[in-house]
Order: sequence, then structure tokens, then C-alpha cells
Amino acid sequence: MRIGHGYDVHRLAEGRRLILGGVEIPFEKGLLGHSDADVLTHAVMDALLGAAGMGDIGRLFPDTDPAYAGADSLVLLDRVVERICSAGLRVGNVDATILAQRPRLAPYIPAMAENLARRLGVDQSRVNVKATTEEKLGFTGSGDGMAAHAVCLLEEG
Ligand code: MG
Repeated sequence: MRIGHGYDVHRLAEGRRLILGGVEIPFEKGLLGHSDADVLTHAVMDALLGAAGMGDIGRLFPDTDPAYAGADSLVLLDRVVERICSAGLRVGNVDATILAQRPRLAPYIPAMAENLARRLGVDQSRVNVKATTEEKLGFTGSGDGMAAHAVCLLEEG
């Protein structure tokens, strides 16, 4: 077994779509970034790459590369999964937490977990997504941005 951790932050801005775990969520702002800025999927990718000893998404998909402008992060996740499988590793489970004051994410969480599980090629019972506020503290509490943490286990063989 190999364990990995991922953490990501994106700023909230007007005129952007809010996409978390590949789910578009109706909100007055969206996350700002070179790709679709899907902070949850980015944290999951970094957890997977960390467990595999393959660096991070910044190294794999540089934000200076125009190829990734507006990229669908689930497609980037597919590429991470391909690399992991090529290395003889498979996903054991993933657990992730989104830090956001608003909007209320609970209604969208099953769809996020389903998207991630499908792309990871595992049963949905192996992917857990949670969301919490930070009690109006810090940058997530003020609504300036969102963050996400993820941990995963990869199994060898
Ligand atoms: Mg990111």
C-alpha cells in the first residue's frame, strides 16, 4: 500500500463557472485558474501522484502550457490514472474534503463522488467526498477562495 496527500487552493472570482469534482454548481462566482480550476479534482490528482511518487500536477500539467487553458480537470485525472496504472498501481480508496463557506455543497456531493469513482475505475464505495465550512474564518470563510484536501491509498500489483 502507498499513501498520498493532496492539497489545493483556488481564488473565487466573478464570471467563472464553479466546477467541483466535474459537477457544475450554480453560484455567483467560480474558481479562477488556468484550467477549469476544479480544486477538488486537483487535490485528488495530487494525492494520487504523491502516493505513486510521481511529483504533482504542476509538474505534469504546467499552467504555462496553453494546452491546459480551460482544461477539463476530469480529463487530466484520466491521464494521471493512466500513469498510475502503467506503473502497476491501482486505487484503493480516496477520501477528500472541500473547504468552502458557500454555496451549500451537500446536494452535489454524490455526483462528485460518482464522477471521481468512474474516472478512477473504482466502485463508488471507495471514493468519499465531504465538504465543510471553516466557520467564516480565513480565506475560505470570507469567500475569497476554496480549498480541498485529499488522501488516497494505492495498491501495488
Ligand atoms: Mg489547482
